[in-house]
Amino acid sequence: MRKLLCIAILCVVVFPVAIAEEIRSYTLCFSKERQDAANLHIKCSFSLDFQNEDSVIMNFGGGQEFSVDNLKVDSVGFEYNQEAKNIVFRKRQEQVVRVNMEYNYTNLSAFFIYGEGKAELWETSFGEYFYPYVPNTFMDVALNVETPDSLSLICSYPLESDDTTKYSGKLNHILSQSLTLAFIRNDAYQRTDEYIPGKLSIYQIKGMQCGKDRYDELLELTKASITFFSRVYGEDYISEDRNVTALPVYLFHNGKGFSNRYNVGFISASQEKFSTYPDIYPLVHEIGHRWLGEWTLLIDDGQSGAYFIKETLNEFMTLMFIRYVCGSEYYESQLDRCKSEYEKIKGTPQDEPIVNVVTNNNNTVIYRKGPLALIRIAEQIGYGELMSVISRFYKEYAGKYPLKYTDFIDIVNESHAGVGDQLNLLLTAQSL
Ligand SMILES: [Zn+2]
Repeated sequence: MRKLLCIAILCVVVFPVAIAEEIRSYTLCFSKERQDAANLHIKCSFSLDFQNEDSVIMNFGGGQEFSVDNLKVDSVGFEYNQEAKNIVFRKRQEQVVRVNMEYNYTNLSAFFIYGEGKAELWETSFGEYFYPYVPNTFMDVALNVETPDSLSLICSYPLESDDTTKYSGKLNHILSQSLTLAFIRNDAYQRTDEYIPGKLSIYQIKGMQCGKDRYDELLELTKASITFFSRVYGEDYISEDRNVTALPVYLFHNGKGFSNRYNVGFISASQEKFSTYPDIYPLVHEIGHRWLGEWTLLIDDGQSGAYFIKETLNEFMTLMFIRYVCGSEYYESQLDRCKSEYEKIKGTPQDEPIVNVVTNNNNTVIYRKGPLALIRIAEQIGYGELMSVISRFYKEYAGKYPLKYTDFIDIVNESHAGVGDQLNLLLTAQSL
């Protein structure tokens, strides 16, 4: 009996029951040479190991009808679905097939959102799946990008460059959807490099650059927030294991109707707001996404509590940075703003339960009401204690898929019996 049990255990260890498909030897080439604005020529190739699956679905494509053009696929048994934005490969005889693809891609959101063609951002999180990938898996990629002389490239992972027009890199174990590219016009942007002491590059639009005080404030806030969050999470900003190999590049653009974004290797934000707004603490929120956010906490849009996990936790930690580093007066004023903005929608149809925000479409609930709910818990168990629970949640769940918001509730309950349930009541309540 014991012997049988041992064999059974051995089998489970050696032969996991479900083996997911695998993408290997992935090469991606993006060319911006002789391409119009918002266009790329793309070649890619990879080996597809079906393992136990009959088919493999990869995210692929963007706006229907126009995003993918002249698609050539050198492989048997595939089907490109414009509407579903995916490409499906079906298993025939071979378990491993080599796939070569070549196509042109038009990305109108890159063009229209970021304004007048001075910068183009290629982002999978805007629903532009400009290269094929299996979401929420990790992959190795050999990446090559070619640009004309007039453009510079910023990538979510730093690439080697011969300082002219060719960029390349071997990226190991990156989250498959996390490749973001920014092409920027050299004549429209000015780059400055600072050392804090690690290198920090800042791109600003010529003629719209901020004053010296604002510039120094950016350097100070960046440095202070990196120190604060590194300590809270027990993990440096730069971490080989997390594929973050440099400090962020700041790209201040003149986009309209966008939000600030953390794209692993670079942070994009509005030049106008950066130069003119009374405070720039939202940039601390972007720094905080290095640890907590869409690239580490892999909860799908549409899942209950998706934006509590991806955004509210990080906004709460941003408030904690202000509380502990910027002083109580400044913290109180931010807290008052938070409360008064929530009061404006309280009891209205916009005042929905926090867990009901499953696409990022309710800023007041996610960035105001959500942190206020967490502050109620912090008042009860202690601010430092809640921060360590969030830090533990990060360490345990970063990079794991699938993730549920109740995983966070459970981790709160584990260390403070019943408090997770109280938080859950606040997150599911109509009003606070
Ligand atoms: Zn955010």
